[in-house]
Order: sequence, then structure tokens, then C-alpha cells
Amino acid sequence: MNDTLITHYIGGQAVARPGARTAEVFNPARGEACARVALADAGDVDAAVAAAAAAFPEWAATPPLARARVLLNYLQLCRAHADEFAALVTREHGKTFADARGEVARGIEVVEFAVGIPQLLKGEFSDQVARGIDAWSMRQPLGVVAGITPFNFPVMVPMWMFPVAIACGNTFVLKPSERDPSASLLHARLLKQAGLPDGVFNVVQGDKAAVDALLDHPHVEAISFVGSTPIAETIYARGSANGKRVQALGGAKNHMVVMPDADMDMAVDALIGAAYGSAGERCMAISVAVAVGEAGERLVAALAERTAALKIGDGMQEGAEMGPVITRAAKERIERLIGQGVEQGATLVVDGRGHQVAGCENGFFVGGTLFDHVQPHMTIYQEEIFGPVLCVVRLPDVGSAVQLINANEYGNGVAIFTRDGGVAREFVRKIEVGMVGVNVPLPVPMAFNSFGGWKRSLFGDHHAYGPEGVRFYTRHKAVMQRWPDSASAGPEFAFPQMT
Ligand code: NAD
Repeated sequence: MNDTLITHYIGGQAVARPGARTAEVFNPARGEACARVALADAGDVDAAVAAAAAAFPEWAATPPLARARVLLNYLQLCRAHADEFAALVTREHGKTFADARGEVARGIEVVEFAVGIPQLLKGEFSDQVARGIDAWSMRQPLGVVAGITPFNFPVMVPMWMFPVAIACGNTFVLKPSERDPSASLLHARLLKQAGLPDGVFNVVQGDKAAVDALLDHPHVEAISFVGSTPIAETIYARGSANGKRVQALGGAKNHMVVMPDADMDMAVDALIGAAYGSAGERCMAISVAVAVGEAGERLVAALAERTAALKIGDGMQEGAEMGPVITRAAKERIERLIGQGVEQGATLVVDGRGHQVAGCENGFFVGGTLFDHVQPHMTIYQEEIFGPVLCVVRLPDVGSAVQLINANEYGNGVAIFTRDGGVAREFVRKIEVGMVGVNVPLPVPMAFNSFGGWKRSLFGDHHAYGPEGVRFYTRHKAVMQRWPDSASAGPEFAFPQMT
């Protein structure tokens, strides 16, 4: 057991109080603890917020272009350290190294977007709105903002938040997942090396205690949260009740509709990658395949063969297609849900329970699992399993597929595979989901668009990153200006009219 302590990062320094609570961090492929992480209390959170508040006035006054240049340096450092980030992700999360590299690349894209943010901070100007009076609008940073992030993208999801927040002139406190916290400190080190002043970016490691302290802190102006729906809902309620701006992205149950006219090879490849990539631990993972009409037989036969042949192992192993799940508890929960699927009458086509990987006997592995004839009332349909379990639901037509998906409590991502443009167009228009793919299984928007679901997949008004992120991290101000040499008509007691 490695006794490395993963610390907080406050005001440009690694910080850990002796005697404070800690938790074990695991390498899930080995099933062994690889480090300990400090768990913040309200005092640690207060210190981080104080550091961020002290840094705010100077950072907010720094010209946007100068802020962007720091992010440009950071961007170059991220590129140079991409494999170091990816190796940390594979060690603590378990996803394959190739997949971790993809995560890092998608995070870097947000930094590429953020270096152009001065363009989006421009206001609008109206000349002569009344005689001698001009008006304009501007967007200003909020102050100290906090990000609370999930285990499944320990590099990328924080990068959805802090590059945008910092480019807009805010200072930031990150509370990463306690399951895979190391990447947060590499971000901190590289930001400092890039020239970011101390206090602009801080990290508090921790669990519920740290989150509650952030939610209740009077100097935290806004909270960005990404995680499961029940926690997202409480974060939104408590943060909003405390007068903060909150965006809370929650869980998902993403469907992929396969029409009988779809390119079946393409659909099967897409489903295998989208259901089992990252062991199904993606908020955009496809967990339900909706087979329409005669698509069902061909689809299930092809999926069964491919699911059973998945190459599962330590994510650093050459050729591994899928790694372990995050914890022993997650493995047990997923295997219990598979059991419930069988009890409730679904057809278990490939059973991933009890999967063993040679040389990694203690690892938290679940094999690829495929269910057919799943019904909407079953627990495996209703719950977000967040593991390598794909449920096939068979339906007669696209209308009933749309009805099923729109009735689902989640609305994060969805896809349709078809060769019929008219069917696809109607589907896109009618579906009540935030991100839609046509022959694209994981329609994760680019950094210059914005990411977010509908219904119980997002609480709040703004999606993450892109233009929505800029709006979330800034306040609109309207200004009207007259100079003393404009003729004064004396006091006006009636509501002003522009003439
Ligand atoms: P989680 O909700 O358990 O944890 C998320 C964060 O909240 C972590 O930082 C954790 O420390 C903290 N937290 C956990 N319990 C808490 C509590 N009781 N009170 C306050 N804070 C608490 O989520 P997770 O297991 O880390 O991540 C997986 C979930 O995240 C899945 O549901 C997945 O769909 C979702 N997710 C959503 C998106 C999206 O964009 N919508 C993206 C990634 C992950």
C-alpha cells in the first residue's frame, strides 16, 4: 500500500492538516488502495474560499486578453502532459489508457475555446438612445465560483468548468471526486506553471462535508455540479435557497433507436462502443437499445457475439477494450441489478457477473452484459445502472420509441440509427432530450457549443461550457451614460421617456 497523501491546494500551496480525516483511493483494476486523499472540513473550505476571494479583485481587473494568455500557456502544458493526465485517470478510474487519452483531448478542447472568450465578453452598444445619452451592456464575472465533479471524468468534467470560469474573470474552488482526485493537483500545478496567480484556482478534496460547506458559504457566488440525479437535485435546492446561481447536471438513461433500415454493422459497432466503453460509466453511455420492428433479431444476434468477445482487463494493458468499474460497491450493485433483471423476467443473453481477469483477481470487474425483451417497468430499465449492461427493448414502430423515451425521467442523450432522413428529422424535432445523435451514438457537443440534458438530467437554466458556460459565469450589466455638457432639462418627475 502506497501512503501518498493527496492534499488540498489553497492559495498556490499544497495543504493538509495533520490528523484530518482521509479516505483510501483505489486502483480498481488491482482492487488495491494506491493512495489516501485528505477530506476537507468547513475550515479547509473556508480557507480555500478566502484565498479565492482575496485573488478575485485583481484577477477580475486583469484584461481578458491577459487572462486568456495564461490559459494559452496552460493549454500548451496540458498538451505536453496529456499522457500523464491519462495515466492518472487509468490508475484511479480504471478506464483504458486510449479512452483516458480521449477524455483528456475533449477537456483540452474546452481550454482551446476558453482562450477565445474575450470575443464573447463583448457587450452591445447603442449610440444616442436619447439626446446626449448612450447605452451599452457588459458582462462581468461573479466572484468566487465552485465546481463539484463526479468520478467518471476526473480530468474532463472539471475542465468543462474552470477554464471558462477563470477566462471570464472569476476565481475558482474545485471539489473533485474523492475516488480519483489526483488529476486535480496536476491541473493546479500546470496552471501555476502557466502563470496563473495564486488563489485563482484552488482545490478542496473531500466528500459531503466539503460540498455542504461550499453550498452554505456566503462568499461562493455560484456552484457548477456534475454527478448523479439525487445529489444534483439536493445541490440545486440547497444552493439556490442560499441565493447562489446553480447549474447541476445529473444522471441519465440514454436510448439508441435502431430502425429496420439502419446500417446494422454501423449500429452494432456504435452500440458496443457506447454501451461498454468506459465500462458503461459515462453519462452519455447508451444503456437502452430500442430495436424497432424486424431490427430486433439481427441486432440481438450480432450484439450477443460481440458482447461476449469484449477484451476486458487492466486499462494499461495493450488491447484492453474495457476496464473495471470504480469500486467494489459499484460491482456488487451492478451484479445485484443484473440479478433483479433476471428475476423480473428479462432475457439474460450475456451474463457479466463474476467476471475474472487473469492477474487482476481482486479487480472490480464486471463483464459485458446483454439483456433482451426488457420492459419499461423493470428495475434494469428504470435505474441508471452505470455499468456495462445493455438492455434491449423491442417496439413495433418509431412512434412508440419516441413515446417511451419522452416518458423517461432522464433526458441527457439519445440517438437514432436509420437511413431515412424524414424519420430522423421528425425524431430530432419530437424527442425531449438535450443532446441528439443521428447515426452518432454519443452526441457530446463540441467545446464551442454547450453540453446539457433535459428533465431530471439537469437542474438549472444553463448548460455547461461553450456560450452557455460564459453566460453562467458572468452577470449582465446595462449602462446608460450622459456627460455634463449635455443640456440639462432640470429634474424629471415623470418616468423617463427617450425623446
Ligand atoms: P455522485 O453524485 O455520487 O458524486 C458527484 C459529486 O458529489 C462528488 O464530488 C461527490 O463527492 C459528491 N457527493 C457525493 N455524495 C454527496 C452527498 N450526499 N452530498 C453532497 N455531495 C455528494 O456521482 P458519481 O458517482 O461521482 O458520478 C456518476 C454520476 O454522475 C452518474 O449518475 C452520471 O450519470 C453522472 N454524470 C453526469 C454527467 C452529466 O453531464 N449529466 C456527466 C458525468 C457524470
